[in-house]
Amino acid sequence: MVGLKTEWEIEPAPRECTLAEYKGAEARWCPGCGDHSVLSAVQKMARDKQIPPERIVVVSGIGCSSRFPHYMSSYGFHSLHGRPLPVACGVKSRRPDLHVFAVSGDGDCCAIGAGHWVHAIRYNMNITILMLDNSIYGLTKGQTSPTTRLGRASSTHPHGSPLPPLNPLTVTLGISNVSFVAQTVDWNPPHLSATIRAAHDHEGASFVRVLQRCPHFTGDVYADALEDRSQVLLMEHPDGIVLEPAMRERLKNRVDHDPRNLGEAFQLAARTDVYPVGLFYRNPDAVRYDLVTAHGLGKTPSEKLGAIEEAIERFAI
Ligand code: SF4
Repeated sequence: MVGLKTEWEIEPAPRECTLAEYKGAEARWCPGCGDHSVLSAVQKMARDKQIPPERIVVVSGIGCSSRFPHYMSSYGFHSLHGRPLPVACGVKSRRPDLHVFAVSGDGDCCAIGAGHWVHAIRYNMNITILMLDNSIYGLTKGQTSPTTRLGRASSTHPHGSPLPPLNPLTVTLGISNVSFVAQTVDWNPPHLSATIRAAHDHEGASFVRVLQRCPHFTGDVYADALEDRSQVLLMEHPDGIVLEPAMRERLKNRVDHDPRNLGEAFQLAARTDVYPVGLFYRNPDAVRYDLVTAHGLGKTPSEKLGAIEEAIERFAI
């Protein structure tokens, strides 16, 4: 039974959504690419939460991970290089009922998109930001990215990257009005899923850096953590990312961290001797710009058109 909700919106009948309903085109990432794990985790979370696919919008920029919207059976927007966040904020500002995900890479987010990254975090709209960090430009064949390690050779720096890498975690934690910062890894599906779920649960801009394997260009970058689990430091707290006991036991290197403690979050995020995973920081009281600017959302299409014409008249020279 389908009924009209408004004069232009149709409300589908309630139904049980299966995993298959979230799957779009066959993913064309390389075999072993960490992007596959993230896609699977998002699809399973949407199924587990029974978010109707037509209520999901996935926005991306340019890069390997930015092919994400094609592989989801949902609304999507494969935008310009570095521009997923302004598009995602625009969608959220006018359609707060939709579940908005922004998928970006280290080059897309931290280089050309850096200005948008800073302001999207500050605006703190209710969107889930997944930054898949393989520490290289993969799609364009292996150039140095902002997170490429010092001394690592690439097609643009054959003698090694001359600069220390940018730390996306400490940068995000330093932005005014930040409300959620977490880190996870693509090779631990339970932790990856729990982190993405917590990010989606958070009401505000949730920033998740996913350490993502790129076997084609940077296969060795996270090899130390894969070979030796003690290289991964699990941050624990009842208000953090909570793992099943069996999964928690597999990560022996653990530390208590209260995600309200911003100073300690900085210290943990700056560590280079281990890979900290879990929730660095959460502030549920940060101002949300999507709530501040939620004007006129209930207007009819003809009222909206009238308001636009009135504004054009007012500003016409
Ligand atoms: Fe994944 Fe790297 Fe292949 Fe891109 S080049 S699809 S990041 S493995």
